[in-house]
Amino acid sequence: TGGLFVSGQRHMLNKSLQGLVGLRNLGNTCFMNSILQCLSNTLELRDYCLRNCHITDLNNNCRSNTALIEEFAKLTQSLWTSANNEPISPSEFRNQVQRCAPKFVGCNQQDAQEFLRFLLDGLHNEVNRVTVRPKVSVLDFDHLADDEKGRRMWNMYLAREDSKVVDLFVGQLKSSLTCTACGFRSTVFDPFWDLSIPIAQKISGEVTLKDCLRLFTKEDVLDGEERPTCTKCKARRKCTKRFSIQKFPQILVLHLKRFSDSNVRASKLSTYVNFPLKDLDLREFASEPSERPVYNLYAVSNHSGNALGGHYTAYCKNPALGEWYSYNDSRVSPMSSSQVRSSNAYVLFYELATPSHMGGNVKSAKLAIRCLQYASMFFLFCFPYFTQKGHFEASLLSLECIFFSFKYRLLVLSIYCYYRDLRSTPHTPNARYNLFYLI
Ligand SMILES: [Zn+2]
Repeated sequence: TGGLFVSGQRHMLNKSLQGLVGLRNLGNTCFMNSILQCLSNTLELRDYCLRNCHITDLNNNCRSNTALIEEFAKLTQSLWTSANNEPISPSEFRNQVQRCAPKFVGCNQQDAQEFLRFLLDGLHNEVNRVTVRPKVSVLDFDHLADDEKGRRMWNMYLAREDSKVVDLFVGQLKSSLTCTACGFRSTVFDPFWDLSIPIAQKISGEVTLKDCLRLFTKEDVLDGEERPTCTKCKARRKCTKRFSIQKFPQILVLHLKRFSDSNVRASKLSTYVNFPLKDLDLREFASEPSERPVYNLYAVSNHSGNALGGHYTAYCKNPALGEWYSYNDSRVSPMSSSQVRSSNAYVLFYELATPSHMGGNVKSAKLAIRCLQYASMFFLFCFPYFTQKGHFEASLLSLECIFFSFKYRLLVLSIYCYYRDLRSTPHTPNARYNLFYLI
């Protein structure tokens, strides 16, 4: 038994090291390594690769180019299954990146956020469940209520772009344009993969992430050359424009605009932005007041240095251990959660907390099922006692029958709750997971 114990312990040790593997720098590839580690710690994306779900998606839509997702999945699998924690070389993956985007060829310092955009888009295109994209039909939704218009626009988007990557990362942004002459308001809905938010400036006091988000959603005046055409006035008018979030994604990527221009990168703002690690409540930025989006941070891509040159690292919360680690190319080291916030934070990865709209009925149904499980366990343990007495067998059987019928009635009730929740919040992707929580 001693040997068994030791091997069991070794197994545990290896398991606890999973995901704590560094990536070799292939010559200024720290931008890529930083993003790869953030994505590797994105639980659902990681599991998608570990469970080979991408292969099912690839088989369903026979595409010719599948190398990017294949190399990405291979890399993720190596990071989470390697027996030792020797750093891994991402050269095969890098070759595929270069094939798809010659922009990333060479040894130039690249922008991590641009790379993230390119990578997510590339992965999505290879595992898109839509094989033949329907033609874009110009439909007039202007007569509809904003909420309904947003939903239809979202469904139109899904009819063309639908993949695990979209399920996780894409949200919907609403922009409202109001004509200052006639007061006519028009709305536009656009999908977003991340939000690039400006860094607020303060004369005194700390700048918070919410300050930056408020600046991003602040009413903006479009005047002069920027004047849009008002559909009612049929002329170019001075308008006000503001953003709000129509649909919150499962994974919210916030890009802090530290560089003045992503192409020239003339200067960098190294303002310290205070962001919460837990319970980032974005209710005030929602288009619909009923939404209660609360996010928790799980990864940060950091940039140190100036606009001309610098270094990328990543801070990620290991989903298995719940602890923070610093990923600096091939080096991985544990860190305290108090060190996660710094003026180097560049791209923030937040995950939606368990949806609060998981209604009371669903919660009590879950509790009832648990109670039944304990009760049946109790009866199971008492079984020898009952059989010893002899005359309890018959009653035990009948009791069991009652329990079984109860269990099925509860299952029916929970399915009913699930569908009702889905109907009341149809555009919240989490509603569809409630059933799995129940089971
Ligand atoms: Zn007008």
